[in-house]
Amino acid sequence: MSKVEDFLTSSEEREVVEAIRIAEKNTSGEIRVHIEKETSIAPIERAVEVFHQLKMDTTQERNGVIIYIAAKSKQFAIYGDKGINDKVANDFWNSTKDIMLHHFKNGENKLALVKGIESAGEQLKKHFPYQHGDIDELSNEISKGE
Ligand code: CA
Ligand code: CA
Repeated sequence: MSKVEDFLTSSEEREVVEAIRIAEKNTSGEIRVHIEKETSIAPIERAVEVFHQLKMDTTQERNGVIIYIAAKSKQFAIYGDKGINDKVANDFWNSTKDIMLHHFKNGENKLALVKGIESAGEQLKKHFPYQHGDIDELSNEISKGE
């Protein structure tokens, strides 16, 4: 299970994208998932790099969130943009990370992502409630690296 394309089946991938779509119905925040094989730096540092590469720092309210996965080692990180970090404590994502870790340990990759997205969506909703006329600023599709 080390390859990016083995991390989720295509139907599981669709479920993850759907989870993002549903989560974003409750918040103006934008959630993206990026999966790549491995990273040579700390997952959180890599998450920040990818966040900028994907231009996730271009949202109006600076409220994009990336869930970063290194498939081979099953390392992951969650990083939220400035708009979120200005409002919340550093340990804001801990409950989301705990939920994800629990499922990854059980080999439940899809569930880890879906539950992580649901949790992130709940957190975002508190600070960035959905507003009428909200735009889907960042694609809900999973981003994949090498
Ligand atoms: Ca939006
Ligand atoms: Ca989106």
